[in-house]
Order: sequence, then structure tokens, then C-alpha cells
Amino acid sequence: MTRQRIAIVGGGPGGLMLARLLQLRDIHPVVLERESYAEERPQGGSLDLHSETGQRAIRLAGLETEFSAMARPEDQGDRLFGSDGALLFDRNEPGDDRPEIDRSALRRILLDALPVGSIRWNSRTIDIASDGIGYELIGNGWRERFDIVIGADGAWSRVRPLLSDAVPAYEGVTLVELGFDITDHPQIDTLTGSGKMFAVGDNRALITQRNGLGHIRGYAGLRIPEATVWQWQKLSHSSLRATLREAFRGWAPPLRDVIETGRILGIRALYALPIGHRWPSRPGLTLLGDAAHLMSPFSGEGVNLALADAVDLADALSSDNAGSAIARFEETMARRAEIAAEGAAQGLNGIFSEEGATSVLQHYRERVTVKD
Ligand SMILES: Cc1cc2nc3c(=O)[nH]c(=O)nc-3n(C[C@H](O)[C@H](O)[C@H](O)COP(=O)(O)OP(=O)(O)OC[C@H]3O[C@@H](n4cnc5c(N)ncnc54)[C@H](O)[C@@H]3O)c2cc1C
Repeated sequence: MTRQRIAIVGGGPGGLMLARLLQLRDIHPVVLERESYAEERPQGGSLDLHSETGQRAIRLAGLETEFSAMARPEDQGDRLFGSDGALLFDRNEPGDDRPEIDRSALRRILLDALPVGSIRWNSRTIDIASDGIGYELIGNGWRERFDIVIGADGAWSRVRPLLSDAVPAYEGVTLVELGFDITDHPQIDTLTGSGKMFAVGDNRALITQRNGLGHIRGYAGLRIPEATVWQWQKLSHSSLRATLREAFRGWAPPLRDVIETGRILGIRALYALPIGHRWPSRPGLTLLGDAAHLMSPFSGEGVNLALADAVDLADALSSDNAGSAIARFEETMARRAEIAAEGAAQGLNGIFSEEGATSVLQHYRERVTVKD
């Protein structure tokens, strides 16, 4: 097994964790990443790592010290407002069961743990051909043969179509991403509290989340048709802000500050693969992370699942009978992701509902009861 050439398509958290875990077993995959360098694109906001999935992967990868140096266990508070500005829930308990870490910091830790040369930047996989034994990856001006190919290439995976006809479907909700520096926005700093702030009204929400290095990331989320998303992509920032102002008309002014003062970073329409996505196993080819089970971010599980998948796939690839081990890995991954995807869909439909904050409040109260 170890002599076989392994390609990991995609250097996100899942692909890089898999590479690290294989390296620790003296298996040396190549990670092919479309970006030209680590900081080419903004990497998104803060992620919380759960003990049995994300944190377990970090432990097995021997990266606890590096993680602890960058993690923020103090940023786990939750606040919930109604659209009228009433504070409905406020939990501010520093703890260490789900420490936050910026996505860019997590990626940097994983990149630094890999030997030089294990990641090939600027290597977008455009096509994949199978010769019946292995796979030829084809990029812009390059092609290379591998025995085993792992699709860790996220939502719009190029590897997935070789295994499955499933395509991500628009979930009806779009987030406009906003950025704040706390020194310039003390009112957003106060509003956010010690972790995350949700303000939820009729089918819409304003969200802020504390990130590292004095940043806060905000989201204005609402239900819009997919065709409108494309129109919004073409709007100038001032027109987009005016559109949001109109959508959140009547909300309490301290909440509206989120859309009035945030730096517009981008528009993120939410897509998901079918819940319970599975495929007939195929020798030498599999998926992990978002490529296998893209879901809305409202279960907070996406990166945790990707890291847990990497742990299980590293075990499968280093076992004596990798073929059947990969099929077992796929079933384990699908079962774990199915539960999370149901939670993510419920989370999305709870937040973006006519009931406003009611179901979010219930969710928070149940969590407190379970924990206590
Ligand atoms: C707004 C938002 C908030 C989120 N919040 C949370 C949260 O709080 N908690 C949580 O757990 N998860 C969260 N997630 C989800 C989380 O970011 C993803 O689930 C996670 O990053 C998946 O990791 P991955 O490695 O599978 O894929 P990705 O992170 O998508 O990485 C895929 C990599 O593949 C590369 N790539 C893509 N196509 C190709 C190609 N053809 N060739 C080569 N390289 C390619 C990409 O450049 C990228 O580096 C959130 C997601 C969003 C959108």
C-alpha cells in the first residue's frame, strides 16, 4: 500500500490533515491545491473544534501544542436578540470544550506540519481519466498518474462526479459576509459579547462572530431566490448595502449597525448535498469533507467532519486491505455526516423561519439543560 502513489486533490483542512496523518505513517501523498499560495484567498471566519472529531484529529496529528497556541477557548459565548433588540439569551462561559480557531490559523498549522514539497500550489485539477488501474489527473499544462486519488476539493469537487451524480442544491438562504476591526467598531464588539451573536427575525438573521487578531466577522442572512443571488453578485457595495438596509428595515438600530458599518467581504449562497449522500465504492478513489457531504454551516460540524474523515481515511489507507477498508470508511463517514446534515438543515430552517428567534431560543435552552 505504502508504495502506491496517492494524490489528495485540495489543500483545505480535510486534505491537509489527511496528508499529515499519512506522513506520520511514512506514507507520502502529494497534495494538489488550486490556489497559488496559502494566503491567496481570505479563508473565512472562526471555527470551533469539537472534542471527539476536530480536536481528536489534532491530537492524533501531534499538533496539540500548535493548536493551543492559536485557539481561543474564551470565545465560546452565545447571545441571542430578537429583531426588536431584546436580549433573549446571553451565555458567557469561558470553557475549553469547543475552542475557536481562525480557519487561516488552522490551515497554517497543518501546512507547517507538512514536509516542504508535499503541497503543490497552483495545481487545479481540471479533469480526471481512469485507465482501469489508476487515475490520471489533468491540470492546466500538466498531467500526472496516481494509484489512489482522494477528492478533498470542497463543495464543487472535480473528483465527486466520478463517483456520484449528486450536485449541491441551493438551500434558499444567502449570507452577505461583513468584516469589522474591534478598535474601529466598539459597538459591534459590545454587541458580539464573548463569542457569537445571533439576531433573528422573520426569515432573516444578523450574525456576528468573534475572530482572532481583533476581528469580528458578520453575516446578514436572508432567504432569497437563487436568481437573485446572481443579481446581487453584480451590485456595487453601496447598492448591496442599500438592499440590505431595506431588507432589515424596522430592526433595532444597534442591530442594523451590523449592515450599516461592516466592510462587505462577499456573498455566500448556501448549498448542500443530499442528506445521506452515498455512492458505490470504487477502487482507488474516494472523497472526504465538503466534497462528500457539503451542508449548511448551521450545525457547526463541517470542519469537524472533514478532520474526522481524515483520521478514518488515514487508517483505511494504511490498512492491509485498503480496498475494503475504503468502502468501510465511506460508510462510517456517510453515517456520521448524515446525522450532522440533518442537524444543519434543521438549524437553517429554524433560524430562517417565520417564527423568528423562537426555535433558536429553544435550541439554546435545551443545550443549557443538557449540559447542566
Ligand atoms: C460561512 C461559513 C461558515 C462556516 N462555519 C463553520 C463552523 O463554524 N464550523 C465548522 O465546522 N464548519 C464551518 N464551515 C464549514 C467549513 O468551512 C467546511 O466544512 C470545511 O472547510 C471543509 O473542509 P474541506 O477540507 O472538506 O474543504 P474546503 O475547506 O472547501 O477545502 C477544499 C480545498 O480544495 C481546493 N480545491 C477546490 N477545487 C480544487 C481543484 N479542482 N483542484 C485543486 N484544488 C481544489 C480549494 O482551494 C480548497 O483549498 C463554514 C462554512 C461556511 C461557508
